[in-house]
Amino acid sequence: MAYTYIIVGGGSAGAVVAARLSENPAHSVMLLEAGPKDTNPWIHVPIGVAKTIRNPAVNWLYATQPDGATSNRPMALPRGKVLGGSSSINGHVVTRGQPEDYDAWAQLGNPGWDFDSLLPYFRKLEDAIGFDDPARGHGGPMTVKRSQGLDELTRLMIAAAGECGIPYNADPNSRNADGIGLVQRAVRNGRRVSTARGYLKPARHRPNLTVVCNAQVSRIVFEGRRATGVEYAVGNQLHQAAASAEVIVSAGAIGTPQLLELSGVGQGQRLRNLGIDVVHDLPGVGENLHDHLLARGAWELTKPISMNERSSGWPLVGQAIKYGLTGEGLLGNAIAHMIIFTRSSPDVDRPDLEITLSPFTATKAIDFKKLDKTPGVFMSCVPLRPRSRGHVHICSADVRDHPAIAPNYLHDEADQRVAIAGLKLIRRLLTSPAFDSCRGAELWPASNKQSDADLLQYVRDTGLTIHHVVGSCRMGPANGGVPAVVGPDLRVHGLQGLRVVDASIMPSIISGHTNFPTIAIAEKAADMIKADAAR
Ligand SMILES: Cc1cc2nc3c(=O)[nH]c(=O)nc-3n(C[C@H](O)[C@H](O)[C@H](O)COP(=O)(O)OP(=O)(O)OC[C@H]3O[C@@H](n4cnc5c(N)ncnc54)[C@H](O)[C@@H]3O)c2cc1C
Repeated sequence: MAYTYIIVGGGSAGAVVAARLSENPAHSVMLLEAGPKDTNPWIHVPIGVAKTIRNPAVNWLYATQPDGATSNRPMALPRGKVLGGSSSINGHVVTRGQPEDYDAWAQLGNPGWDFDSLLPYFRKLEDAIGFDDPARGHGGPMTVKRSQGLDELTRLMIAAAGECGIPYNADPNSRNADGIGLVQRAVRNGRRVSTARGYLKPARHRPNLTVVCNAQVSRIVFEGRRATGVEYAVGNQLHQAAASAEVIVSAGAIGTPQLLELSGVGQGQRLRNLGIDVVHDLPGVGENLHDHLLARGAWELTKPISMNERSSGWPLVGQAIKYGLTGEGLLGNAIAHMIIFTRSSPDVDRPDLEITLSPFTATKAIDFKKLDKTPGVFMSCVPLRPRSRGHVHICSADVRDHPAIAPNYLHDEADQRVAIAGLKLIRRLLTSPAFDSCRGAELWPASNKQSDADLLQYVRDTGLTIHHVVGSCRMGPANGGVPAVVGPDLRVHGLQGLRVVDASIMPSIISGHTNFPTIAIAEKAADMIKADAAR
């Protein structure tokens, strides 16, 4: 049987495209997802990210290549391998980025991708509870709520930010991100809202939508230069499915270039070296990979105003009851409660630095398995517009082998400077008068690390991904001077019947977290595909 559309990958983008395209009963839609259904209970409990982040049942558990700039540490790079993809295992922090991020995409030769053109999709995708700015959306599939915060710590943090010249911002997802605000979360009634829940669940009953889980696509099938279907495996069983209109690849910033290369689309010589027949020599595939790197500061507090004291014994029971009754508290919150967007130096024209505040510390168990016993707080700083660029490429012709992932964190000196500025700002915040009444010892980076060289070495030794890999199939004109993979219509250059719709198409990362921007991309793509079909 031939489907009208086959979508590879049921993640943040793929689930949206499948749900939107199947709104038209005249089109049959097949969605193939390598991972299982989203039945793991920790997916749905907001704090469960601490569990799924290392669970191979729902996570690809990639690692980066060792790299001198990050002290030769292979860095864990989780990606969702489950219905909903990374939106099922992410930190559910909601940000849009800044209008200028998207305007820059348009200026690179991608008409229709400026912020004003994307705003209707940001509004369409969300149900923003407690926001009345006209730029916010209501009634959409992805619920957004402010984090509750912790009264005393939230108050101190806003005061400390004020003392550092950072104003309060009631909605950093308005056009102006500048300032400190409560984190916004994709959570409804105390449960995560992934794209599987927000988009696919209401669409699953449609007879024209076929969702196959545990189905890993190993190859796009071509007739000449037209994509006509896919080959996929469920267990040891190999299957083929045909697409009469289009194959849409939404396998994410790692999975999409991997699948294109396995299918003979990519750098010709690289593919021939692996014994893969070249369908189309497209040098940009797998290039331009980039990500956000975070560095952390942590302090002891001398008053019981953090989550540490509530994370064991009877207080934890209290938190569990609170979660059961209200969906809030330790289990219902994001890992970060407050977010700052600010400038790394006065001569930067718009915020290029994010700081998040988490009301706990886990200095002995870096993976948050167990919080520290005494009160503490930690903050992360993230250079928002890194200039370092890396790549991701397959190492074999076997889809089961992970590709080699090299984000090249900190390769550009500008990224090093912003990271150092971020750590210094964390110090200024925690040593500002607001915290005088409860400040304890500095745990990270540790007070003996003062010089820029010390701080940079600390970032190299301990920096971590904040999980925002993008850009590995960048959007741009075919002859625009940079090796683009898809055009502004998201069709793969030089081929027919094939589009890429996911975070890999971002020409440059947005100044924030990437889930909602990826969903907005998918909403726009679905409209473009529908419009093409109508023509
Ligand atoms: C741990 C973690 C925390 C994060 N925290 C946040 C956050 O708090 N806020 C935020 O905004 N963003 C966050 N992100 C980033 C955000 O979730 C991603 O940018 C976004 O989900 C990317 O969407 P995507 O559609 O490109 O890829 P994904 O959502 O990863 O979807 C790709 C899908 O394709 C499937 N797939 C891959 N290869 C194949 C194949 N060959 N055959 C079939 N299926 C395949 C995968 O299993 C997956 O389901 C986080 C990400 C992670 C991993």
